[in-house]
Amino acid sequence: MMDDAAAVEKMTADAKLKTSVFKCPNCGGEAEFDAKTQKLHCLYCGGYYEIQNNEKVTENELSELLDKATVWNEAEVYECKSCGAKEILDKQEVATVCPFCGTNNVVRTEDLPGIKPQGVVTFKIEKSNASDIAKAWAKKDWFAPNDFKRSATTENIHGVYNPVFTFDAETKSDYDGRLGKYYTVRRGKHTYTEVRYFHISGKDYPLNFDDFIVQASTSVPQKHISKISPFPTNGAPVFKSEYLRGFSANAYNKDGKVCWDECKELMRIEIEKRILSKYNYDVKSYVNISTKFNHPLYKYILVPLYIGNYRYKEKIFNFFINGSNGKISGSRPKSFWKILFATILGLIVAGLIIYLMFLGDFVD
Ligand SMILES: [Zn+2]
Ligand SMILES: [Zn+2]
Repeated sequence: MMDDAAAVEKMTADAKLKTSVFKCPNCGGEAEFDAKTQKLHCLYCGGYYEIQNNEKVTENELSELLDKATVWNEAEVYECKSCGAKEILDKQEVATVCPFCGTNNVVRTEDLPGIKPQGVVTFKIEKSNASDIAKAWAKKDWFAPNDFKRSATTENIHGVYNPVFTFDAETKSDYDGRLGKYYTVRRGKHTYTEVRYFHISGKDYPLNFDDFIVQASTSVPQKHISKISPFPTNGAPVFKSEYLRGFSANAYNKDGKVCWDECKELMRIEIEKRILSKYNYDVKSYVNISTKFNHPLYKYILVPLYIGNYRYKEKIFNFFINGSNGKISGSRPKSFWKILFATILGLIVAGLIIYLMFLGDFVD
């Protein structure tokens, strides 16, 4: 058992890693956002305080993105000199440990924090839970080395708000293309596979997108955000700095315009997938699609992530956990021997299939 003085000392040490400070109205101690109760929780007297906020975030016209968005004045940008990650903190705060690489080589910069978030998806998963999720995930990878699976240690787990733009759009697409279907012909003793091509086309193919998420910071790759989605961005509360207490926010380095261009590309991929799913085909020769994006709307919103890493044989492997639903993505060490074994096994199976196909031909 820790005595009280030791407990307070430990709490102070923990609090030093924290970012935004909110003073408890009861005792003046530091309070932070509590995922379990969705309230502010004082680290010293244990009191809970409701965050006064009944408003839900709403969409904005995309045309207003550049000129009318509010600038985030009450915040400052810090940069990690070790890994280059940028964090946004409240003005009264000081530098902290970098959530991406764990070093405290973090300095304040003159960079502007950009536009103010309009909404925030709050943390629902507690930090202690995040570590359990990461340990369980380490065990699930068949290719991971056995000693890693047995005793994976998780380090530097930080709750970080990650910036995303969400977009809505009503799309209409005209398309034309050529697809092919396999068929077999018999000539003499042998059967051959050939392709029969056909033409496809359509006008005003409709597809509506709602809250399509585009990652606005390159510190966390889009593929991880897509894997751990969804985030409940629809109906999320409007931004209040109280939600950041005890967490930090990653700065965006892709602005709304860059994200919208990226979004259109991602939406085009989805539109092509939907169009092609209407047809029965084996090969795609080409498809041309021209899309109109009508009534585009956007939200700039923070979504909750736990970022941490595994350390294995002096190497660092990052993982990212959705702070709202607990889904995880990232990298894990791979065992060279297991990969070699699987490759050899794959080759044997492929060889066997080819052998059996030829055998079938001869019997026939
Ligand atoms: Zn208190
Ligand atoms: Zn760093």
